[in-house]
Amino acid sequence: MIFDYPVLRIGRTHGPTGYSSYESFRPWLRDEFTFRCVYCLKRETWGQVTGEFELDHFEPQSLIPERTLDYFNLIYACRRCNSVKLDQPIDDPLKFLASDVVVVLPDGVLSSDSLDAKRLIGQIDLNSPALQRWRVMWMRIVDLAKERDSALHQQLTGFPEDLPDLGRLRPPSNSRPEGIEISWHAKQQRGQLPESY
Ligand SMILES: [Zn+2]
Repeated sequence: MIFDYPVLRIGRTHGPTGYSSYESFRPWLRDEFTFRCVYCLKRETWGQVTGEFELDHFEPQSLIPERTLDYFNLIYACRRCNSVKLDQPIDDPLKFLASDVVVVLPDGVLSSDSLDAKRLIGQIDLNSPALQRWRVMWMRIVDLAKERDSALHQQLTGFPEDLPDLGRLRPPSNSRPEGIEISWHAKQQRGQLPESY
């Protein structure tokens, strides 16, 4: 389902370091966060404007400037969610916006029994009426595409065309080079890319 959060992950797949601008981390973050906003799950393929997605400093630059170029402090988020988060200190979304903690109801509401997840949902305002309507609208669009237009359905639920080839990038250093082998582009090269996610 398009609004199912990913399974809980401990740690990251990639670990590039040493870039002098945080934009250089973008291809790594796109792959790490599977081409969607970590908070609301908006996908790149729903607008095709990659520039709408921002590299969010989890611990705000204003408070912890020394982590500005730290890959492990960067998160892939849409403009809407990044602008709601601002400089709030929040819990790790990879930990609390996970499939075993949060479920999406048919009316577009995010539901959770976890107090930590509820707090995070409140901080990012993920149950705003506008976002609930937006989820219901997308669930309906994807259902209709599934019934009537399989190419469109594939486009809306599949991977973007421009998967970053991380093996060709040359970060000054990489603490997790083994992650490249399980990047989406590498899976595609091996014929193992899922049709949808
Ligand atoms: Zn978002």
